[in-house]
Amino acid sequence: MEIDFLIIGQGLAGSALGYRLIHEGRKVILIDQPEENKSSRVAAGLFNPVTGRKMVKTWKGELLFPEIIPFYQELEQATGKKFLTLQHIYRPFLSIEEQNEWMGHSSDPEIQPFLNKIEVENQHASLKDSFGGVLLQNSGWLDIPTLLDGMVTFFGDRLVQEEFQEEELVQEGEAWQYKQWRAKALIYCNGLGAMRSRFFSFLPFAPVKGEILELKQDFNPPFIVNRGVFRVPLPNGNFRVGSTYTWHDLEEGPTATAQKELLDKLTEVVRVPVEEVVAHRVGIRPATKDRKPFLGKHPEAPHVYVFNGFGAKGVSLVPYFSAQMRDFLLENKPLAAEVSISRYFNYI
Ligand SMILES: Cc1cc2nc3c(=O)[nH]c(=O)nc-3n(C[C@H](O)[C@H](O)[C@H](O)COP(=O)(O)OP(=O)(O)OC[C@H]3O[C@@H](n4cnc5c(N)ncnc54)[C@H](O)[C@@H]3O)c2cc1C
Repeated sequence: MEIDFLIIGQGLAGSALGYRLIHEGRKVILIDQPEENKSSRVAAGLFNPVTGRKMVKTWKGELLFPEIIPFYQELEQATGKKFLTLQHIYRPFLSIEEQNEWMGHSSDPEIQPFLNKIEVENQHASLKDSFGGVLLQNSGWLDIPTLLDGMVTFFGDRLVQEEFQEEELVQEGEAWQYKQWRAKALIYCNGLGAMRSRFFSFLPFAPVKGEILELKQDFNPPFIVNRGVFRVPLPNGNFRVGSTYTWHDLEEGPTATAQKELLDKLTEVVRVPVEEVVAHRVGIRPATKDRKPFLGKHPEAPHVYVFNGFGAKGVSLVPYFSAQMRDFLLENKPLAAEVSISRYFNYI
């Protein structure tokens, strides 16, 4: 069977790019082994325009954020499922100095589109925010497992749920034969699986383990709290609290240390006791050494592409960069230099 693209991996990246290529009328097959999924199905799914300890605009935020809501709404329409929640993020101030600093930030044209309000007083008896806090907008969270399940139905026969065996790939001229498919091009969207690929093992991935909790707590404000940890209200009345970051013990499952770290940090912002920890999950983010995604074409193997390396911010990065990757694949438009894998060609 002749196809245009064989996509390896149906996490957030493969789902988005697969959707965009099918939308352009291309013949696509996706191969995914769901049990391998260590990131998209665990992620909290937050998109937060102002991040980091120093609270700066997310890298390329001015390009990424206008794409987020329309793209996921389009996928909601295509799948008939609801997975996008627009919600403010509230970040309590720790000191009067921080409050003053934010007052200064409020006129910054880069930050303004994302700033809803600066509070100068405590907003809720259950919150430790005696100096007030900043309420961010154009933010929220994506229920990625529901999106992926919706895309499974959307892809239908185009999705094969099994392990991809790279050694079974046979190059035939400019095309690739894999089992019954003859593909004009391959696209690796297989997260950390790409580290084992003969084509892309040269890329400097830097996997980051993350642990995340679901818990019960009697405090339900209409916003996500984000200070040290984030605390996202879930539709079932519980809260998602996360995440940890570690570069060690990647194979180890959930740890008591991480649970304690998250609960301690939560206690620093929310006064109400935790009633129960309902779930504790672990994932590994497909992060990269320079914290920028990996997009592009293998320099030697014909028509072998990668769309990967979305690290801790796949939800924000994938809508914009899947459009850029589509244009690169279909129209040969150049990729942004910061994300193009050509920056690592001397590593081969
Ligand atoms: C604890 C935690 C919290 C996070 N929170 C957030 C957040 O709040 N916001 C945010 O934007 N991001 C968050 N992330 C990061 C987010 O999960 C990633 O950026 C994104 O999901 C990566 O998607 P992906 O499709 O590139 O990779 P993956 O989700 O890893 O998908 C790769 C797919 O390839 C498949 N695959 C691999 N090898 C094979 C093979 N040989 N054969 C067949 N299939 C294969 C896997 O099964 C998987 O389905 C978090 C991650 C973790 C772990």
